Amino acid sequence: MKKRIIVIGGGVAGMQTALRLAEQGVEPVIVEKEPELGGKLRGWHVLFPSFTPAEEVLTALRRRVNESGIEVLTSAEVTGVEPRSVQLADGRVLTCDSVVVSTGFTLFDASIKEEYGYGIYDNVITSADLERMFNEGRVTKADGTAPRRIAFLHCVGSRDEKVCQQHCSKVCCVTGVKQAMEMKRLFPEADVFNFYMDIRMFGPGYEEMYREAQQKYNIHFVRGRISEASPTIEGRVQIKAEDTLTGRPLRMSVDMLVLLVGMRANDDNAALAAGAGLNRAPSGFMAPRDLFLENVCSNVDGIFYAGAVTAPKNIGETLNEGIAAADAAARYVGA
Ligand SMILES: Cc1cc2nc3c(=O)[nH]c(=O)nc-3n(C[C@H](O)[C@H](O)[C@H](O)COP(=O)(O)OP(=O)(O)OC[C@H]3O[C@@H](n4cnc5c(N)ncnc54)[C@H](O)[C@@H]3O)c2cc1C
Ligand code: SF4
Repeated sequence: MKKRIIVIGGGVAGMQTALRLAEQGVEPVIVEKEPELGGKLRGWHVLFPSFTPAEEVLTALRRRVNESGIEVLTSAEVTGVEPRSVQLADGRVLTCDSVVVSTGFTLFDASIKEEYGYGIYDNVITSADLERMFNEGRVTKADGTAPRRIAFLHCVGSRDEKVCQQHCSKVCCVTGVKQAMEMKRLFPEADVFNFYMDIRMFGPGYEEMYREAQQKYNIHFVRGRISEASPTIEGRVQIKAEDTLTGRPLRMSVDMLVLLVGMRANDDNAALAAGAGLNRAPSGFMAPRDLFLENVCSNVDGIFYAGAVTAPKNIGETLNEGIAAADAAARYVGA
């Protein structure tokens, strides 16, 4: 009898974990709450740092899952977890020999930062909205015209005690640089400004992108946080900020304000953790047993983690964790 491991969440992490488990001779089952596999990757356009179409990566992972004959349950939300079973929202209980939790993250809701007017003013959008607009091939102002001046605001819902999100979301600086470059490709005449607290370009090729954005694309980087945004009668967005390098206050009207929203912990981490006795970090993300030697293990034997469920991560890191988590879970069940 093959050992059966349930993988909760069918994003990048869950698909990669299941593929590796299948290679190890284990029977993986992916349980995904949405009707389709893919997680957040389904909403992205091209991926930093290589500008690879997200669709290419998504299609390849889904095809591999399909070809491996991995059992997939979609539209099935997990509400409780134990080392040898998971509980679904419809009341079903699925039994297994071990569980990998790969339920990812939640995008910060930008409307909580009322001072930026998201959901109230036209032409204030989030980075996730902009990805969707790129995918739809329709990047315009609300009135259908082309933007001539665009501002990106970093750290929206990250590094912000007021909204209880003290952590850095890690991928939004590079997303802001990537999206600014895409906007310049679409609108070469537009002025593009990125307002940042610090620029965190931690990955391979990221710093090079940042340089290219400045030198080749002439994107302006302003160190300072926008304090508020308000609409003008011409349908533009007026922003107030302080340039913290020169110490001068700054006021500017833009056609589009893009809020680079952070990655926060899922709300249901609390219930999953409470039910199984799992530890969470102060940020609300799940806490691995040990950050160095057992970073894909939970504190409960038989429950493992892969991907952004434990912290913000990029896709490369997430894919690698899928392999590590599968290997640890396979070892645990003796496969
Ligand atoms: C705006 C933005 C742009 C990005 N662009 C890039 C990029 O260009 N390149 C890059 O490397 N990274 C990028 N990232 C990071 C990338 O999105 C993550 O690395 C990746 O999504 C993490 O995958 P995951 O599978 O861990 O989580 P997710 O993508 O969040 O997937 C989790 C899955 O679990 C499911 N799930 C959740 N709860 C349950 C439950 N209770 N029961 C069943 N299923 C559940 C969800 O429906 C989802 O399918 C970007 C992030 C953001 C915010
Ligand atoms: S990656 Fe950049 S934008 Fe995102 S939270 Fe960290 S510093 Fe802010």
